[in-house]
Amino acid sequence: MIISETSISYLKKLLEEKSDVLITTHYNPDGDAIGSSLALYHFLVSLGMNPKVLLPNELPSFLQWLPGAGDAVIYSENPELGNSLLAAADLIFCMDYNGLGRVKLFTEELRAAGATRVIIDHHIQPENEFDLIFSVTAVSSTSELLFQILEEAEFPAGISKEMAECFFVGIMTDTGSFSYACNRPETFEIAAKLIKTGMDVERVHRMVYDTYSESRMRLLGQCLGSNMKVLPEFATAYIWLTKEDLEKYNYQQGDTEGVVNYALSIQNVAVAALFTERGDRIRVSLRSKGEFSVNDLARAHFNGGGHRNAAGGDVFKTMAETLVWFEAMLPALSAEIHQSLDNYR
Ligand code: 5GP
Ligand code: MN
Repeated sequence: MIISETSISYLKKLLEEKSDVLITTHYNPDGDAIGSSLALYHFLVSLGMNPKVLLPNELPSFLQWLPGAGDAVIYSENPELGNSLLAAADLIFCMDYNGLGRVKLFTEELRAAGATRVIIDHHIQPENEFDLIFSVTAVSSTSELLFQILEEAEFPAGISKEMAECFFVGIMTDTGSFSYACNRPETFEIAAKLIKTGMDVERVHRMVYDTYSESRMRLLGQCLGSNMKVLPEFATAYIWLTKEDLEKYNYQQGDTEGVVNYALSIQNVAVAALFTERGDRIRVSLRSKGEFSVNDLARAHFNGGGHRNAAGGDVFKTMAETLVWFEAMLPALSAEIHQSLDNYR
């Protein structure tokens, strides 16, 4: 049992007492953020509630087909509505993020809201800004954790096909199609339960992974062909994307999703980074193999965080400065990175 009975009873009590439920997730929502938020949405609807989903910014096109996605309110497009939902809510779920800053666009409104805040998340080191905390890092994803919570709570309403698709997308995307963060047998047991609802796994996979626009695919080509540097002496590889690159390939939200993993797929590379130029900052995505913690790296140098093997953050420098600065930090990390690689094999 990874979830305490006390937390489950408190959650049940909250769902009985509260009526204005708002489900929120992090900025640049990914498959797990959207999947877990919409699964919870469908679940609450099945209880007869009228929950709302508030996303900080737009969801990538490969997730827009998910059941219920069209009902979500996008804060960046309608901040007045977002603010009124935040003010009116008496229960707010914080899905797939560990600190209020991660919603980026409505952090202060979220902090000021009078509602009870429940976090359901699998990132390490959650902040102490929540009334009820479901924080488990051993699971693959927030979607998996939510599934286990609902299962242990033994709510009479079962899992519908729509809910199953949302859960499945969260687990599938956070494990790279069941290739990492998936050594726990429960991950597959839950996947099997989801498939038993009648959902079409092959279709779900296709909708997420085989729907690249031509320009997204060519942007990937640019990343791998021209914009990647491999540094074998540090077992590190990185990719950069300037504003011009993004414009050239008509960048759409979500187009760089998964790009950093290609750099990590190289043999004898244990740390991979993607640097993307975004307005006044360079967005950083970090990945690692083995015990080397990119969460620690992101916290120490990139104003960010995440998990041991997948983290992100921001740097307030130019692209050229950032790349020089990043390369300069590698000699000091080299021994640790190589150690991680040696133990990983
Ligand atoms: P990605 O590289 O896919 O954007 O993010 C990888 C992981 O790190 C995700 O689980 C994400 O939630 C987390 N992460 C990304 N950016 C940040 C950040 O700025 N701060 C924190 N705390 N976590 C982040
Ligand atoms: Mn996640």
